[in-house]
Amino acid sequence: MLRKLGVLQNIERYAVIPNNIAIHRYTDGRILSEQNLLPHCGSVYGSPYLLIHRADFHYVLASAAKQLGVKIQLNSAVKGVDFDKPGLELDDGTVVQGDVVIAADGLRSQCREALLGGKAPPIPKRTLVYRVTLDPAYLMKHEDLESLVDYPEIHYWIGARSFFALNGTPSNFAVLGPHSHVVFYPLREREPCNLIIVAPDTTTEFENSSKANLSEIKELTKNWEPRIKKMMGMVASSTKWRLQENMEMENWTSKQGTFTMLGDACHAIIPYLYVGLIYKIKYD
Ligand SMILES: Cc1cc2nc3c(=O)[nH]c(=O)nc-3n(C[C@H](O)[C@H](O)[C@H](O)COP(=O)(O)OP(=O)(O)OC[C@H]3O[C@@H](n4cnc5c(N)ncnc54)[C@H](O)[C@@H]3O)c2cc1C
Repeated sequence: MLRKLGVLQNIERYAVIPNNIAIHRYTDGRILSEQNLLPHCGSVYGSPYLLIHRADFHYVLASAAKQLGVKIQLNSAVKGVDFDKPGLELDDGTVVQGDVVIAADGLRSQCREALLGGKAPPIPKRTLVYRVTLDPAYLMKHEDLESLVDYPEIHYWIGARSFFALNGTPSNFAVLGPHSHVVFYPLREREPCNLIIVAPDTTTEFENSSKANLSEIKELTKNWEPRIKKMMGMVASSTKWRLQENMEMENWTSKQGTFTMLGDACHAIIPYLYVGLIYKIKYD
């Protein structure tokens, strides 16, 4: 798809190409499974597996669009959709008309509610994602963490029943040990690496995202292998997100055929398989 759009070469300039996906046992870091990505993806699928920061991805796509003469207008919140014209009403009252409207306004899409003709709030999935970034310079100071920076790979540490528990109910969580998984991956060469912890959502108050208390994530990983505990000790701050999906829609396109939807606005899915963006660019 990216090659077809003529942007793959530019995307590759910003992306990191991981060598493997390694799945580790959470208690001792032992490798349970390894999937080769380089050169496997290139030889089997014709393109490498790429990790790219969202801002770099947007930059490359927006630059290519501008070169084609696309006018991008920022700071324009949509408050209404006219499915007949078709057109959009912005929050300052301006009306914008076009040949087609493609709505990609995310999980809390107002356009989805306009198409469905009523409220359609996201559905919480009882799962939290904590995200921290780690400075590679600090990681490089530790012999056992050096290879995480030097040799780009995606690392998963899985706890007992991680994946089952994440799809289960809170009562399952209570009896099945550490029900979380941790993922570590680089996004830009020599820049902060991402580390995320996916864990059961035990909060009662509703918040989409908030600052995480560092003791929460240390507690979650207190029995994990030494490298994880060491990395947790380096964390200065963390944000947590409550994962949500949206209801399945019968149709993403208006009956007039001049309005359609794209991305999380119409098919938000839980991102722990790292497929949100892939679905967005591949299938829409
Ligand atoms: C914690 C977390 C981690 C994730 N990690 C990954 C990952 O590693 N890899 C991956 O592929 N996916 C990941 N995802 C999923 C991924 O973020 C989404 O699938 C992806 O961002 C969807 O893109 P989108 O453009 O459809 O929506 P969004 O990225 O949500 O963009 C919607 C845009 O619409 C704008 N908008 C909203 N309302 C209006 C309005 N009324 N008028 C005008 N503009 C409006 C918003 O400001 C925003 O810019 C993750 C999600 C979460 C929550």
